[in-house]
Amino acid sequence: MLNQKKPYGMQTRAVHAGESPDPATRASAPNLVMSTTFVLDEAGGSFSGLSLTDDSPFVYTRWGNPTVRQLEHKLANLENGEAAVAFSTGMAAAAALLLHLLAPGDHLLVSDVAYAGVAELVRDTLAKLGIQISAADLSDPEDVARSLRPNTRLVWAETPANPILKLTDIRLVADLVHRAGAELVVDSTFATPIATRPIELGADYVVHSLTKYLGGHGDALGGAIIGRAERLSKLRLDTSIHLGGALSPFNAWLILRGMATLPLRMAAHAHNAAAVARFLESHRRVKRVVYPGLASHPQAELARRQMANFSGMLAFQTDDGPQLAQRFAQRLEVFHYAVSLGHHRSLICYLATDDLQKNSFRMDDEHQARYRAYAGDGIFRVSVGLEDPADLCADLDQALCPE
Ligand SMILES: *Cc1c(COP(=O)(O)O)cnc(C)c1O
Repeated sequence: MLNQKKPYGMQTRAVHAGESPDPATRASAPNLVMSTTFVLDEAGGSFSGLSLTDDSPFVYTRWGNPTVRQLEHKLANLENGEAAVAFSTGMAAAAALLLHLLAPGDHLLVSDVAYAGVAELVRDTLAKLGIQISAADLSDPEDVARSLRPNTRLVWAETPANPILKLTDIRLVADLVHRAGAELVVDSTFATPIATRPIELGADYVVHSLTKYLGGHGDALGGAIIGRAERLSKLRLDTSIHLGGALSPFNAWLILRGMATLPLRMAAHAHNAAAVARFLESHRRVKRVVYPGLASHPQAELARRQMANFSGMLAFQTDDGPQLAQRFAQRLEVFHYAVSLGHHRSLICYLATDDLQKNSFRMDDEHQARYRAYAGDGIFRVSVGLEDPADLCADLDQALCPE
């Protein structure tokens, strides 16, 4: 088991943090504990999850489970946070955090560009509960400063933001948000702790969809919140116990295994994405490529300062988006035309601007103009996987130029 006093590197932590040999069997790999209930040594005590403390024995898997607990410790360790709570999906984590922290009359300031599920949850469900919602361009600190209100309780950032890869300067925005008496959440799904550790830069909470890079293989849904221990033990009682979005131990076990290779996979994802981004940028049918590792990214300087790895996500624009999307769906041989991201397989899908605006973002005219400056009428979102980059470029090329 790692010595808590030693400053191990990220690869050592990704392999070992949170895990220790099972005391009963001396098993080296983490045990998969599927039991939903745990035998109590003594009768009595309270029947309510509200009586739990962080070091209570395991009682019921919705309240806590040994395999899930190991994953939570690994996540907190890699993000340099005090604690983590895992959920069944990234959306369950996002919903839990928002419902736990916000009350009627509070104002939530959300990134104008964010994961579609979060954008819709906030604008539809939370607005119905009497929570004030507004959106700002989190890549523009002046827009953030203008949008904070006396009752702002929470600011929701996502960096890089899905799907156009705008960045939030976490240190600068955390400072603005704290001076306004609010807290900052960063959805760091695209960055992973290998690229950026938001808590070190002043964020109060980090949210992940573990379904993406952290699991890394496209075979397990999961989500997590990382933050201060005392805040998260309250959040666990209020949300995993009462809202019930508990992570399956089997998925926790798959995600633990995926996380062991996270630093190696992220290095390969970034290497391959840089090759695909350069290829697309020089392609005659491609109008624009957005990738934080390219000098042409509008925030390239911030990307270099805030991201130790540029991750595997990029977006590109062509003149014939909808027709090309059809061709991609039919002709691509290596890429899968599919939603989701962060897997070892390369994935691509087309996101039409009108559809995103109507269904998810519903921006005002000014923010829509900002969005269109990046995305035009639509963009291809690419999650560059771990295949040979030359094969990925050739696959895109044969579908871009069919003759
Ligand atoms: C996928 C995703 C989510 C939602 O996660 P699920 O595990 O699919 O529920 C949230 N934020 C971002 C940035 C995502 O990519």
